[in-house]
Amino acid sequence: MAYRFPSGILPLVVAGVLLSALSAWIATRMALAQHIGEHEEHHEIESDSHSGSGTAGDFHAWMHSQLALTAEQKAELAPFEEAYEAQRNRVTKDIHAAGKDLADAVRRGQRDSSAIAQALDRMNAARVKLQKLTLDHFFVMKEHLDPDQAQSLLQWTHDSLLR
Ligand SMILES: [Zn+2]
Repeated sequence: MAYRFPSGILPLVVAGVLLSALSAWIATRMALAQHIGEHEEHHEIESDSHSGSGTAGDFHAWMHSQLALTAEQKAELAPFEEAYEAQRNRVTKDIHAAGKDLADAVRRGQRDSSAIAQALDRMNAARVKLQKLTLDHFFVMKEHLDPDQAQSLLQWTHDSLLR
């Protein structure tokens, strides 16, 4: 004899499965919409994985969230944060611009074209610049941290470079 769900349960199970499928679908759509929205709103400023420029900025934001900065430290750091943001945005734009030129050059289909080589050089130079900017900023931040925070900053930076 086949097992049967007691009447009244099965519809709930089915409804539950449908509901979770629907939630997953909605979550996916929302994540996608958010992702697209972010690209539209901050395309030139925000970095993404395609350009490879995301790491420095994301890691910096993560670092700030982990350091438990006091209000006083935040106030001290504010001008440096502003300067870093401005520089980072500029260099990120350079990375995106080089990435676009590279994509255009690749579409033209000439493997050894100077346009490809130049775009790659520009992109790499901008990435190195971003890396250097970020490291410089971390050392500036370190001057305003207490010893424990400074130790964490150095350790996390060390770890991030090995990833
Ligand atoms: Zn900072």
